[in-house]
Amino acid sequence: MSKKAASDPAYVKHLNTRLVHAGRSDPRVVSSPVFHASTVLFADYAEFCEREAAPLDREHMYYGRMGTPTTRALEDAVCELDGSVGAVLASSGTASMASILNCFLSPGDHVLMVDSVYGPTRKFCLGSLARRGVSTTFYDPLMDEELHTLVQDNTRMIFMESPGSATFEIQDVPAIVAVAKQHGLLTAIDNTWATPLLFNPLEFGVDLAMQSGTKYLNGHADCLFGVTTTASPELYTQLHHHTLAHGMHLAPDDAMLALRGMRTLAIRMEAHDRGARTVASWLETQPRVRRLLHPAWDSCPGHAIFERDFKGANGLFAMVMQRENEQAMAAFIDSLELYGVGFSWGGFESLCLPMHATRKLPSIALADDETLVRLHIGLEHPQDLIDDLARGFAAMDALAGA
Ligand SMILES: *Cc1c(COP(=O)(O)O)cnc(C)c1O
Repeated sequence: MSKKAASDPAYVKHLNTRLVHAGRSDPRVVSSPVFHASTVLFADYAEFCEREAAPLDREHMYYGRMGTPTTRALEDAVCELDGSVGAVLASSGTASMASILNCFLSPGDHVLMVDSVYGPTRKFCLGSLARRGVSTTFYDPLMDEELHTLVQDNTRMIFMESPGSATFEIQDVPAIVAVAKQHGLLTAIDNTWATPLLFNPLEFGVDLAMQSGTKYLNGHADCLFGVTTTASPELYTQLHHHTLAHGMHLAPDDAMLALRGMRTLAIRMEAHDRGARTVASWLETQPRVRRLLHPAWDSCPGHAIFERDFKGANGLFAMVMQRENEQAMAAFIDSLELYGVGFSWGGFESLCLPMHATRKLPSIALADDETLVRLHIGLEHPQDLIDDLARGFAAMDALAGA
C-alpha cells in the first residue's frame, strides 16, 4: 500500500519516476517474477495455524486467489499512480464496475448514473441492478450542482464518467462531489479515459475510482483487467472483501503484462496526446468533418472544465461527420490502412470506430444528418495517420462523384 499523499507536489511531479520504480516485488530483479500459484505451502503446522488465525495481510501468501507477489506489485504500482490507500484488482474493467455497484448498493437503493456512461454499465443498471431492486436515474453529463434536484430519499451513490468514452462530455466533478457530500452519498467514477495521470479523482474527493486497465494502463491490447482505488481504508476493505467473496481474481500473466505496460504509461500518454492533437488539427480543416469531440477543443461539451481540472489529453476523440449512406461509410473505413476497426482503445495502434452503427448514443445532440466516428490515435507517425484519413475521405469523394 502506498503511503504517499496525492497532495504532495513531489509525488505528482515525479510520477514518471515512480511508475518506473513502483511495484517491485523482488529487489533482486528489475521486472517482478510471475507467480503461478494456487496452492501456497506453509512451512509447518505452526505456521499453518498462525496464518489460519491471522487476518489476510500483504506480506504473506495464503492461497493464490487471495493474491501473490505479482498481483501485489501491480496493486502497489496503481497506488503509486494516484496516492490511494489500496487497489482492488479485477479480471476486467466491467468486473470492477459491476463490483462497485453490487458492493455498495442494496435492494431499495437508488443510483444516479451519468447518461454518457460506457454502454455495458448502462446495461448493468437496467438489467442486473434492476433485478436486485436497485433503481437508476440517468442524468445529463453537463449537470453540476443542479444534480441535487434528482437526489431521492433512497439515493445512495452518484456514478460519473468524464469524459464519456463515446460522446466526450466533461463532467464538473467538484460540483457533483459537493452535492454528494451534502446528501451523504457515495461517489464513484469510471476514470478509464484520463487515468490518474491526466485526472486524479481522489484529489477531487471522489470515493471510488475505477479504470479499465485494459486501455492505457496495459497499453498493448494484449490483456484485460480492471482496478478500483480509494483513499478510504474502510471502503477499500469492503470492496476487497466483496471481490474475494465473489471469487474475482486477476491471472498472473495478465498482472505481469499490466505492470509491464504501466512502466511506459507516462511517455505513451504524451505521444498519444501529441499525435491526436496533430491529427485533430488537420481534421478540423476537412470539409466532411463538422466538429470535433476532443476535450482540448472548445467544440467539446464541458471543455472549460477540462481546461480547469485535467493535466492533459490522450489519443481518444471523436469527429462528427455529415451522415452519408452506408456505401460511403464503407468506402471510408475500408480504405484506411493504418486504422483497425475494433473495440477498445489505449493500445499502441490506431483504431477507427463508426459509433452510430453499433449503439444508441443517448447523451449527445447529433442532428439527423450527422454521424459519429471515434478515433484512437496510436503511436504511428501522425503524418502517416493523416495521409491515411485523407485516403479515406478521397474514397468517399470518388464515390460521390461517380
Ligand atoms: C473498455 C471500457 C470499460 C470496460 O473495460 P473492460 O476491461 O473491457 O471490461 C469500462 N469503461 C470504459 C470507459 C471503457 O472504455
